Amino acid sequence: MNNDNILITGSTSGIGLATARVLAAQGFNLMLNGLESEAEGSALADGLKREFGVVASYYQADLANTDQLYKLIEKAETDLGPIGVLINNAGIQYTATLAEFPPEKWDAIIAINLSAAFHTMQRLMPAMKEAGWGRVINIASVHGIVASPQKAAYCAAKHGLIGLSKVAALEYAEHGVTVNCICPGWTDTPILNHQFNEYAKAHGVSFEEAKSGLIQTKAPYPELINPEAIGKMIQFLISDSADAITGTSLPIDGGWTAQ
Ligand code: NAD
Repeated sequence: MNNDNILITGSTSGIGLATARVLAAQGFNLMLNGLESEAEGSALADGLKREFGVVASYYQADLANTDQLYKLIEKAETDLGPIGVLINNAGIQYTATLAEFPPEKWDAIIAINLSAAFHTMQRLMPAMKEAGWGRVINIASVHGIVASPQKAAYCAAKHGLIGLSKVAALEYAEHGVTVNCICPGWTDTPILNHQFNEYAKAHGVSFEEAKSGLIQTKAPYPELINPEAIGKMIQFLISDSADAITGTSLPIDGGWTAQ
């Protein structure tokens, strides 16, 4: 490993924030990003600096907007230096049948969950190749491997992200740059709240009952996955032990995709 600078998109909440904390504890420098205000995001970055003594910075950028995405990359390189590890994590969800899926929701999910990763990879990977080392970790989903009803855009984006990652892995393997996807199942973050609320309404149960009910519709493991577990897998993928792991899609899904 020869570069300690990491850009994590969507790192103000959930998996991204948990991963930032895991990696800051290992001494990595971090560029955080999200939709939250500069004041809120900078408070998170300052907290990491104080707690772990690392360099940490924040830039509010809507990754559906390519100009803002490019500015995020500029800010990351200015504040941290060359970026050795790119974690494409920002993502949104929307559920509706295909017949009723709002086209603007389709466009937003494809832009944020898929196209943003193309743009960050296109901008940052040539410098990793030049340096002879780099890591790209894309947070896909079980829905990059299997489908569920009402998730047309999300499944299309996550399947696409796995395809994009495989191509990049092949193109960069000989240059010391690996590209992998992690495919979480039900993970304990705010992105699931809407689905739990809908399940609770439909089944006349409490929010807590909806959690376990919905989890068990898909996964044999009956608990929500701790987002920190995703961060720990990322920590391993960044390490030198993972030099030969590239082009993979690693499920952390409580057995969901074993069925
Ligand atoms: P979350 O809602 O807690 O966090 C999402 C993050 O993305 C936030 O920091 C938010 O600010 C950011 N974000 C959203 N839209 C953005 C935009 N337009 N531009 C920039 N940032 C934006 O959700 P999470 O569960 O932590 O999700 C992280 C990733 O994990 C997503 O890609 C999601 O699809 C994936 N994932 C989550 C689960 C799960 O069960 N939680 C399962 C599989 C995959």
